[in-house]
Amino acid sequence: MPVNYIQPQFLVLRNTDRCIKCRVCERQCSNEVHSYDVDGDVMLADESKCVDCQRCVSLCPTHALAITETPNQLRKNANWSSQLIYEAYRQAESGAVLLSAMGNPQPFPVYWDKIVLNASQVTNPSIDPIREPMETRVILGSKPRKLELNDDGSLKTKLAPSLQLNVPIMFSAMSYGSISKNAHESLARAATELGTFYNTGEGGLHEDFYKYGKNTIVQVASGRFGVHPGFLRAGAAIEIKMGQGAKPGIGGHLPGAKVKEDVSRTRMIPLGSDAISPAPHHDIYSIEDLRQLVYSLKEATRYTKPIFVKIAAVHNVAAIASGIARSGADVIVIDGFRGGTGAAPTRIRDNVGIPIELALAAVDQRLRDEGIRNDVSVVVAGSIRCASDAVKAIALGADAIYIGTGALLALGCHLCRDCHSGACNWGIATQRPELVKRLNPEVGYKRLINLVQAWDHEIKEMMGGMGINAIESLRGNRLMLRGIGLNQKELEILGISHAGE
Ligand code: SF4
Ligand code: SF4
Repeated sequence: MPVNYIQPQFLVLRNTDRCIKCRVCERQCSNEVHSYDVDGDVMLADESKCVDCQRCVSLCPTHALAITETPNQLRKNANWSSQLIYEAYRQAESGAVLLSAMGNPQPFPVYWDKIVLNASQVTNPSIDPIREPMETRVILGSKPRKLELNDDGSLKTKLAPSLQLNVPIMFSAMSYGSISKNAHESLARAATELGTFYNTGEGGLHEDFYKYGKNTIVQVASGRFGVHPGFLRAGAAIEIKMGQGAKPGIGGHLPGAKVKEDVSRTRMIPLGSDAISPAPHHDIYSIEDLRQLVYSLKEATRYTKPIFVKIAAVHNVAAIASGIARSGADVIVIDGFRGGTGAAPTRIRDNVGIPIELALAAVDQRLRDEGIRNDVSVVVAGSIRCASDAVKAIALGADAIYIGTGALLALGCHLCRDCHSGACNWGIATQRPELVKRLNPEVGYKRLINLVQAWDHEIKEMMGGMGINAIESLRGNRLMLRGIGLNQKELEILGISHAGE
């Protein structure tokens, strides 16, 4: 008899008193967990296929279902966790690299949770954001070192191209292919309505989305999928992706199963072929090479669009950012190691890179020390989970933030971490038409707007509490931050005092 080393990770608990055998769960589960046994007139569950996406739980009309982690935790100990044992079994069976989706789940410190914000009390009174104007608009781009005026008072200094964000929040790069057309449409429409930006990721720009160009950041990655002059001109800004927080040092991989007709046309690659972007850009081996690409893109768009350069947060991130600031880039994007992904090798995702909080603090300080902070804007990504994370990021030195996973949650993602299978039951990380249509962009874009507006209100409340009425005064204002339970080195890198000081 074959031995089943790999046991189901989840249990499907069905309350048979409540179940009316409507078979909704059977129809809704793309993983074919549920089935109906006609002879026994009973609903069955094949738990080995369950990824805990909670679709069936959410749609069961009688609340008869619950999914729970299996109590069978294998023979774990403090060294060998159930997960590690399970992964060894899987690799012994497949001989393959383990793949995962979404961000690093390992229990590394989340510094946002070890930082608290200040609030005004007696002097420097707080500001009521309901009754007084609060400015959360942000301009991204290179700022001039000094302004010169003509004799008539008009501006003589030629300003670099910039982006104006009505809120300090953008939607981070998620390619068409890794997410569905309806997910993209939701992001594009929400960004347009909010006066902010979404990002094509490395998958090119679908022909239907050119109309959202003024709120689109188009991405050029190492695979150059979907990159052509019209694509570059279509966006409001161009982002060169050098690295990604979830998988620093390696390229991307979109499985061929997700490369359907539309995706293949948009990416300009053959139908059904794996889209593999190489780890490096094969024309970039130095800051000088990067500078050539930055200026090629500027040239191709007649110097009308700001150029972003995105890097993963890694050990020497401050020095890398310093080089990028000197490459002619207008915006540096730093993506921390908890950043999401549609697919990444598990070992890379869980072990490579550094937390965004430390990377951001180090980069901001380095650019200030070198007197080049205003030459570039700094945008951070990599698990900004809520408005207070955003406020702390801005106080640590960010000009704006990107959200990815948070945006997907607004669209209905249940963080099952199975995006790489292409069978997302919520219509997000899939190209299967019957699943894609489950996400209604009409609903999705409104939920995204609600999320961002709610965060914007909360940001204003926290700013008001600190007696700050403009995001410009919050940016890099580390006096508003205190650490809790951090050691001296961590406080030093973050550039903040300990609570009580
Ligand atoms: S959706 Fe709920 S009620 Fe319907 S068959 Fe499944 S468990 Fe039973
Ligand atoms: S996008 Fe879909 S597959 Fe990916 S984690 Fe969210 S619910 Fe799961």
